Amino acid sequence: MNEENVREAKDKSALLEKISRYAQLKNIIEEISHNLSLESIADTLSSIVFSLIGENKGVCSLYLADHQSRTGLSLFKAKKEDRGQVIKSKEGDIFDLWVLRHTSSLLVEDIKKDFRFDLEKIKSDDSRKVLSLVSSPFLVANRFLGILRLDNPEANFYTQDDLRLLLTICDLGALALENGELFSRTQELAIHDELTSLYTKAHFLERLKEETGRAMRGGGQFSLLMFDIDYFKNYNDKFGHTAGDIVLKRLSQCTVEFLKDLNPIICRFGGEEFCALLSRTDKEKADSIAEGLRAEIEKTKIILRQQETHITVSIGVANFPLDTKDEAEIIVKADRALYEAKNKGRNKVVCI
Ligand code: GH3
Ligand code: MG
Ligand code: MG
Repeated sequence: MNEENVREAKDKSALLEKISRYAQLKNIIEEISHNLSLESIADTLSSIVFSLIGENKGVCSLYLADHQSRTGLSLFKAKKEDRGQVIKSKEGDIFDLWVLRHTSSLLVEDIKKDFRFDLEKIKSDDSRKVLSLVSSPFLVANRFLGILRLDNPEANFYTQDDLRLLLTICDLGALALENGELFSRTQELAIHDELTSLYTKAHFLERLKEETGRAMRGGGQFSLLMFDIDYFKNYNDKFGHTAGDIVLKRLSQCTVEFLKDLNPIICRFGGEEFCALLSRTDKEKADSIAEGLRAEIEKTKIILRQQETHITVSIGVANFPLDTKDEAEIIVKADRALYEAKNKGRNKVVCI
């Protein structure tokens, strides 16, 4: 009789636990469906799973599908019991690759007893101790979006019930993740110029405003380079508009590459006119960078129909706050310097 009571009490508490876990799913749906940021959707999903299933023990990691990674996966979010823990397998380990390959969930109760995985290979994969894990893919209409996984240094930490709950959360999360990805891609498209992939003028003006505010508050400075292709109309007339578009792309790549160490904000300001904002750069340095860029563009070969062609640019340079303390005025100043460079015969740099 006593034994039966104990068993009943156990069953009852397990059932209550289950009900409370599933009740929390409502919160998850509410939280992620009101959110469009990929970052915070991933954060919510991993936090909830880590506490609800992982009891805040071990590690919870969220991987996203990534075509640029070697494995097709890259670590996007992690929650750890030991915050100092480093997850070495940023592109996933053999368990994550198993989930990716099978597009199915996975429960490993004890790694040492699971014949599906080669123990020796696991040991060499990561130094972190893992004896049990539960993992599930994010799938939308069979499209693989990523993986949510929990692992623990103890064996038999996760149950079939945990696996079922994780699956449900991943089903709910997959749609939210897809929306988040679409939203961030749309945002990226909106601020980039279609032809050159540089920032649009509208986005650049916003960033200029931020930069001006920052420089005003902190007493910092920045320089602006404005440049325009010389006699581009002639180039178009000679080689055609499509060839002109190729030149605009090449010039953009060349500029990005040349300025890459300076963390610049570069935009296509108009048709064949560009702007580069260099933070914390004084006028003298900006002048020499502009001269380097001018020379680099001059020597860049652009091959068109097996023919080697060249372009040159004229560049105007202005500095904040040296030339003006007004965010709109700095563009006018750089533009005036550019006009002067054109007047001086083109393929030149002029500082206002
Ligand atoms: P300069 O600047 O040296 O005074 O002479 P320019 O011939 O370059 O004169 P301007 O800057 O006024 O010319 C703009 C030309 O750029 C006109 C147009 O044919 C070309 N252009 C503008 N936008 C595009 C574009 O998106 N694609 C192509 N192929 N050409 C463009
Ligand atoms: Mg122009
Ligand atoms: Mg021009």
